[in-house]
Parts: sequence; structure tokens; C-alpha cells
Amino acid sequence: MRIIIVGILGLTFGALWFATAGPTPGKGYQSMDQERFPVKKSDDEWKKSLGKDEFCVLRQKGTERAFSGKFWNSHDPGIYSCGGCGVPLFESSTKYNSGSGWPSFWQPIDSARLVFDTDTSWGMTRIEVTCAKCGSHLGHVFEDGPQPTGKRYCINSASLNFVADSKEKK
Ligand code: FE
Repeated sequence: MRIIIVGILGLTFGALWFATAGPTPGKGYQSMDQERFPVKKSDDEWKKSLGKDEFCVLRQKGTERAFSGKFWNSHDPGIYSCGGCGVPLFESSTKYNSGSGWPSFWQPIDSARLVFDTDTSWGMTRIEVTCAKCGSHLGHVFEDGPQPTGKRYCINSASLNFVADSKEKK
């Protein structure tokens, strides 16, 4: 009987953790070399302007859990901008359902607004996508996206802000 109760408690807390856990910092993460980027702010300054999860993802290369972010299933027309500095990065017209649980785009507005670095954490070799203006971590880009580019920009919701298209636009 005691084992059953302990088991049930364990499952309950496990489910609670799964439902509420935020992102964790990237493996081997070190404070970013902000000198590479035009926006130069200290971690303390970033903490003042970002929420806890946003700081973890944008500034500590964290990854939100799949299907947990606010934009993975969004279809509204508009522009997704960098959650760190506000530069417009992706258009909703290039967003598609990749089934990954993260917002996925097949093309950025301008690839010059992004920096691409090789990321070998977690035993994988991936291409990390970073904001070229503020150095914030956005996500990764993969080669399994749809045509015409064949790219999948797999971006954390916590890295993005969304500005909906104006309804009065003619
Ligand atoms: Fe930025």
C-alpha cells in the first residue's frame, strides 16, 4: 500500500513538474560575448528587461519544451520580432506546421539579421541561430524544411514577440 501511495505521489509531482517546468539553460552555456553585437548589455541589464523564461532562452541559450511556447500553433498574420531587441525577424507567411512543437519558419525576413554558429552541445552538431543585433539566442536551423528553401528555422516562442498585421490595412 505504501509503495502505491509513494508511486502515485511520484507520478503526481512528475506530472506537475512536466506541466510547469520552464526552460533550462543550454548545456555548456557561458555568458555570451556581447562584444560581437551592436546591442551591448550586461546580464543584469537583460534580467531587468526580460522575464525569467525569456532570459533563460535568449541569454542562456535555453530551450523551451516542445508544445509549451505561446507561438508554436499560431496562425495569425503578422511579424515575429526578436524578443531581445525588437528587430523584425520572421513573417507569418513563412511560418508552417513542422510538427516539432516549436514555431517553425522556412525563411527569415533577412538572413543578415541572423548569425549562424555551429553548436555541438548535447552530442549533436546543429546550427544555432542568434540575433545579429543583440546576440540573443533564437533557436536552430535545419535542412529538413519545405520548399522553396528546404530550411526549417526552429525558433523558441520565448525568443519572439509577435506584432499582428493591422486589420485596417488596405
Ligand atoms: Fe535581437
